[in-house]
Amino acid sequence: MRGIGGAIRLGKLFGIEIGLDYSWFIIFLFLTITLGYSWHHYWPSSAASWIFGFITSIIFFSSILAHELAHSLVSQRYGIPVKSITLFIFGGVARITREPPRPGVEFKMAIAGPLSSLGIGVFFGLLTVASSGGFSQAWDFARGAIDPPSPIALMFLWLAYINVLLALFNMIPGFPLDGGRVFRSLIWAVTGSYGRATRIAYIGGRTVAYLFMAGGVLAIFMLDFWFNGLWFIFIGWILHTAAQGSYRQAKLRLALEPFTAAELMTRDYPSVPRGLSLDQLIENYFLHTGRRYFLVTEEGKLEGIVTLSHVEHVPRERRQMTTVAQVMTPAEKLPTASPGDSAAAVLEKMEEEEIEQMPVVSESRVIGVIGREELKHFIRIRTDYR
Ligand SMILES: [Zn+2]
Repeated sequence: MRGIGGAIRLGKLFGIEIGLDYSWFIIFLFLTITLGYSWHHYWPSSAASWIFGFITSIIFFSSILAHELAHSLVSQRYGIPVKSITLFIFGGVARITREPPRPGVEFKMAIAGPLSSLGIGVFFGLLTVASSGGFSQAWDFARGAIDPPSPIALMFLWLAYINVLLALFNMIPGFPLDGGRVFRSLIWAVTGSYGRATRIAYIGGRTVAYLFMAGGVLAIFMLDFWFNGLWFIFIGWILHTAAQGSYRQAKLRLALEPFTAAELMTRDYPSVPRGLSLDQLIENYFLHTGRRYFLVTEEGKLEGIVTLSHVEHVPRERRQMTTVAQVMTPAEKLPTASPGDSAAAVLEKMEEEEIEQMPVVSESRVIGVIGREELKHFIRIRTDYR
């Protein structure tokens, strides 16, 4: 699931950027208030209950971070880079831009998350036992037979419960949930076909989504559980959207696989010389052609790329004296493709680097450009006319 706009950076863990999406604050506040409110009679003061609501929320979201880190570390171990982990209103999301190369890798990557949640759940379960004064007392407390032995035990029990629930929910075989990915990796291993496995997993994912929605409708009309019903319908809708998005991505990869960069690139790429002033660049190139970027070349050799956003950063009055070479992204910092690279790999790289186009370079000369939109357009036409 992408669709993440602004995020606050927290720093790096294992080389992975950790961030908080703005929407996360809503759920964090909601959880803190809910926990603070529902526990208030177990604490000596209401301040204590709010503080523990806050601390519990922090630990809960750290467990979600650990879940995403577990996916990411396995992924990195197999050479698949992880750009970032972001906490947002529906939990956490790790940006792993490449699909796993083999079913075994996908299986390990997918199962790592739920296993870590389960481990964290068991850990807090043990803390619950320790803080309740023994196993039998903790059990009576957990099933509601006695009052909480201590407010701390209540906090541990909730964290144990929620993490086990998280592990179970994620193991539902609805692609792209973790369980759905485990399911896909198994079909992939059996059939040997990534494409067929993805199709079947997608049907499974949609089915699970519809079951959630149907369950929600039933809960509303048969049981009059409005809140839970609406919640189930909402989860179903989210799952459906996620399944569709992941399937589209996988289909794109499959469709691009047989082609090389050279076959799908545009040969008449737009280029400008490095000495051109920004004034001229805007007047004679950007405004004239309506293009959003130009390669900077010198006798066919790639020097860099210049886009509208490079130009926007330069004040109007200085554009006449500033040259393209001064503002462009230089070639050393520019990811490029070789003519023989697979188009699918090129698209993945563009998504990883968050760039819209990539020059195709052969023996340090530009021979064409591949654009993200053009690739998608190409596939659309191909699938429409087949
Ligand atoms: Zn997961």
